[in-house]
Amino acid sequence: MAHTAPLTSVSHDRDSAGMTYVYPVVSRRAGGVSVGINLNPNNACNWACVYCQVPDLQRGTAPEINLAQLEAELRAMLTDILHGDFMQTRVPESARRLNDIALSGNGEPTSAMAFPQVIELIGRVMADFDLVGKIKLVLITNGSLADRPRVQDGLKKMASLNGEVWFKFDSATAHGMRTINQTRIAPDKQFERLAVAARLCPTWLQTCVFALDGTPPSDIEQAAYLDTIGRIRQQIPVQGVLLYGLARPSMQPQANRLSALPSAWLDAFAEKIRAVGLPVKVSL
Ligand code: SF4
Repeated sequence: MAHTAPLTSVSHDRDSAGMTYVYPVVSRRAGGVSVGINLNPNNACNWACVYCQVPDLQRGTAPEINLAQLEAELRAMLTDILHGDFMQTRVPESARRLNDIALSGNGEPTSAMAFPQVIELIGRVMADFDLVGKIKLVLITNGSLADRPRVQDGLKKMASLNGEVWFKFDSATAHGMRTINQTRIAPDKQFERLAVAARLCPTWLQTCVFALDGTPPSDIEQAAYLDTIGRIRQQIPVQGVLLYGLARPSMQPQANRLSALPSAWLDAFAEKIRAVGLPVKVSL
């Protein structure tokens, strides 16, 4: 389905370009356009975060990727953005700038078996459009597969492409990860993966905070998170924390149990993270 209306900061419609893998996102806040790459058109993820915005989320992995189609779609989208009328017809004047290419789909992108080939392909296309070093290449990931050699291959390639990893880190406790991310992964295992990712490519922690049944994260959860952030800062070269509120509605069965926290709560929590020594970017 080809949409023709101007995109806005809340337009993240992955069908909006009528493509399978590639979609545009316009962010007024970031003042630019992001080219999204969705390696999970099957809406499959190995986690099931209660705040996830993917409709009809399934447990699973990315399907086999048609690399030729992905490359053709990416080239067509970049041609339209950089040389066509995309900016004039679909983007508000204040955001007519290409910011990044982001692997951010309807599931976990690193679950694609062809993940390193995808990064290589993106690098080739970026080079052809003279974008290497001029825009960022962002991977939004739950990090759970960062111990796989093929994922590490892809992360190494990303580092040479001005890459940045946004590594999900919502809770430092097994109970919190089970409740929020619905995974049984042990936090310590996840920190090992974080260490691997951060040593291969610049990495930000990405943390979503919200109230569950009207209650913000408990004092125990907050203390465990801050304690772990402190340990991470000592041992793992992360760039900082991207702290998110509940910006858009969850599409999961728990949606009506979640609510956004006041911005003052996020600001106060961000201050506690800064006090531990890590930079924080807050996004409501
Ligand atoms: S890791 Fe991302 S895609 Fe997977 S369930 Fe969580 S929010 Fe959704």
